[in-house]
Amino acid sequence: MSTTAPEKHEFQADVKQLLDIVIHSLYTNKEIFVRELISNASDALEKLRRIKITEKNIFDENLELEINITTDDTANTLTIQDFGIGMSREELVQNLGTIAHSDSKRFLQALSEGSEQNLNLIGQFGVGFYSAFMVAKDVKVFSHSWKEDEPSHVWSSDGSGAFEIQAVDGQRRGTKVVLSLDKEQKKFCKADEIKRIIKEYSSFVQFPINVNGERVNTQDAIWLKNKSEIKEEDYNEFYKFACKAFDEPMLRLHFNADAPLAINALLYTPASNMEAMGFTRAESEVALYCRKVLIDAEPKGLFPEWLRFLKGVVDSEDLPLNISRETMQDSALIQKLNLVLTKRYLKQLEEEAKKRPETYETFWNTFGNFIKEGVTSDFTHKDKLTKLLRFESSLTDKGKLTSLADYVSGMKEEQKEIYYLQGTSRETIENGPYLEAFKARNLEVLFVYQPIDEFVMNHVREFEGKTLVSADQDEIELESVTQKDADEALPQDEADKLCGWLKETLGERVESVRASDRLIESPAMSSNSDKFMTTSMRRMMKQMNPDAPEMEAKVVMHINPRHELVKNLATLRDSNPDLAKTIAEQVFDNTLVEAGILEDPKKMIGRVYKLLEKLSLPG
Ligand code: ADP
Ligand code: MG
Repeated sequence: MSTTAPEKHEFQADVKQLLDIVIHSLYTNKEIFVRELISNASDALEKLRRIKITEKNIFDENLELEINITTDDTANTLTIQDFGIGMSREELVQNLGTIAHSDSKRFLQALSEGSEQNLNLIGQFGVGFYSAFMVAKDVKVFSHSWKEDEPSHVWSSDGSGAFEIQAVDGQRRGTKVVLSLDKEQKKFCKADEIKRIIKEYSSFVQFPINVNGERVNTQDAIWLKNKSEIKEEDYNEFYKFACKAFDEPMLRLHFNADAPLAINALLYTPASNMEAMGFTRAESEVALYCRKVLIDAEPKGLFPEWLRFLKGVVDSEDLPLNISRETMQDSALIQKLNLVLTKRYLKQLEEEAKKRPETYETFWNTFGNFIKEGVTSDFTHKDKLTKLLRFESSLTDKGKLTSLADYVSGMKEEQKEIYYLQGTSRETIENGPYLEAFKARNLEVLFVYQPIDEFVMNHVREFEGKTLVSADQDEIELESVTQKDADEALPQDEADKLCGWLKETLGERVESVRASDRLIESPAMSSNSDKFMTTSMRRMMKQMNPDAPEMEAKVVMHINPRHELVKNLATLRDSNPDLAKTIAEQVFDNTLVEAGILEDPKKMIGRVYKLLEKLSLPG
């Protein structure tokens, strides 16, 4: 052992301030000190690895590049040793006694102005070496520089304002940090606890980490590897291990970028949509790493909300410099990452849709609702998302899908609008009265089945200059077609009279009644004349709030002057006005049922019974 007396140094004022915050204000997540000390050890090993390439004379040259951790629950110590570059006396003073970077100073300044929230930030992003004082009453740092003729030293401090440095013999190359744990922090000298923490934060550190001689980190940070070096099984194994998944991923995206940010990302689209299966709202499980070290397992804002089903890893070298040090500016950086990542993921979906439409259909059937959510909530990516929407339509087979782009490319020259219809199922829509007019004119109508689709369509509003219009709207101009039985239709003037009588009979319930060529098979239909409160919007509002007061629907009734029932009604009006009135009311109610907006069926049922009674009269 050395004979020289210990030399006492005061910490720089900044360090005192930082230590004070670290020790007294960081209640939560103390375990991150393990991550910080391991990262320092790994940095020191990496530096040595590089030095070895150019330098000949290296102290303790043949030592393995590894990190050895020992726990001692009798002495209550935790020791973290690396065979890295080590530190000379000056380096110990400089690196562990001052805060050298101006970035750190800004970090501190913001902290001193800060709130609880800022403290969470350090908890999240680490405070480096000084985090050791969150759990230790005394920290000793033994170090021997890689330079052969440098003597070795021990740095020690209780974190309260000063540190001592003393020469010490018998050190291996590198650095050994010995923590004497606080009474309340004894769990950190338990091997199992330390292993757990390492697995959580430092699984992918590239140098071996041994705890009491046993290797703990065996995982490869495959996201940093070259794609050609990675086998399919490795990708899937990583998915199961790192993302704690049980299925095989549906899609995988492994990409690197250098500009505008250095990013290595490995993103998995799971095979199933847990949220749709009734689990609680998904939380993004894309972990954020900086050079293989976990920064945050569930970082907020790294992806837009509608991508919360993704799993995987994002690693960015640009992170620590900006995020941890530049304090509150971090959201701008996360925002930038978010933009790059989202754009890249959307590109993957576009490519799938183009090159492997079946895979994309599977994706759509599983995660389509997230795309719809994006269309209604993410203005930045709305256009791209809109292109990813898929629909069944009157021209597709059941279960087959089309896109807005396909719809538009198949449009007739004179067609100005994109038509869609909402209904609970394909059958409901196909059997309803609204489709008839479009079918007769060979116009494609997109089918949507969920209440939220109306919202989605309203948000899309138009595509390639064509407005999206619900096919149950009143004001739709359609080219005229020759209708079957046209010559047997009710003459125009009689039809007009019937319409006038119907309006009179139905009163306030209907806005107007008109004879229409929108009907082919059905006698009548109700269409909505309120552009804002469309019928499906009304249905949705009703579903969300069943007890809300009834809203007056603006309804236009269309009648089919070629239909027997309508023709009969025109005569019955004179011969049996009472029965005609009952039938008129019933026909109108039927159209409301088809529109899904009949408010109170009781009256109608009573009326049907009355009609049946008349029909069942003997004779
Ligand atoms: P950072 O790692 O962000 O630079 P730290 O507070 O963790 O900040 O460490 C401060 C400095 O101390 C490091 O930059 C490094 O120069 C030095 N250091 C810390 N631990 C070690 C170690 N195990 N080996 C060599 N140098 C170290
Ligand atoms: Mg560090």
